[in-house]
Amino acid sequence: MATRTKTDAQAAKAVDTARGALLEQIAESEVGEHLGHIAEGERVVTHLFECTLAGYRGWRWSVTVARASRAKQITVDEVVLIPGDEAIVAPEWVPYKERIQPGDLSPGDLLPVEEDDPRLVPTYSFGDDPVDPPLSDNDRAQVRQVADDLGLGRVRTLSIEGRDLAAERWYGGDGGPDTPLAQSAPATCTTCGFLVRLSGPLSELFGVCANGNANDDGRVVSYDHGCGAHSEVQLAKRHEPQPLPGHVFDTVTHEEFEAL
Ligand code: SF4
Repeated sequence: MATRTKTDAQAAKAVDTARGALLEQIAESEVGEHLGHIAEGERVVTHLFECTLAGYRGWRWSVTVARASRAKQITVDEVVLIPGDEAIVAPEWVPYKERIQPGDLSPGDLLPVEEDDPRLVPTYSFGDDPVDPPLSDNDRAQVRQVADDLGLGRVRTLSIEGRDLAAERWYGGDGGPDTPLAQSAPATCTTCGFLVRLSGPLSELFGVCANGNANDDGRVVSYDHGCGAHSEVQLAKRHEPQPLPGHVFDTVTHEEFEAL
């Protein structure tokens, strides 16, 4: 159970000492009422004073005083400005990497990936496709050596976790089967001539739309996605353009027709 710190009576009474220390550094016009004190530890007390600086509503001047054991003299530890409950403070710091959202990158921006990012594994340990049965250490070393010698291949490739995350994101996104566009499509992408097939494990579920007239042109789509620009879509008779009626002679404003 937490024990309450006993307030040192002399340190608690040292309001004038605390105010004096504050006024050595801060203009008197910026210091308001004494708001109380907090027992910080044995013979250590913090006195709080209202801050009357414009724009600092709710902030307090905090002056910590202390008394040595068996001493009568009070000494000043520190003077700082701290926010109270009603103070306007900056939002909690969020690292740049966590703040950035898809689509935020501008030309020239860099977004480094952590060395131990679980979405990636060294290519030589996994390859672009799962190897069955898995490579032995010796085989891996040979593959890496060959890749190094030839200058081929990427250093890292998607891990199973990275692949699953991408598949979930794509399937649940605009290229998946649950969008209004896909729900009202006459057929799915799997039968569409504009679907470009991928390679690797993600190709079991996804391809890329290559129809310049479709909303998803250039984007990953799931096989059960679809849209009205499907290559085999046919207009029903009632949707086809109606034939125009023949020309009508204007016999009201054109006199020459009277001569006919
Ligand atoms: S045109 Fe439509 S149906 Fe065809 S691949 Fe693209 S999104 Fe799928």
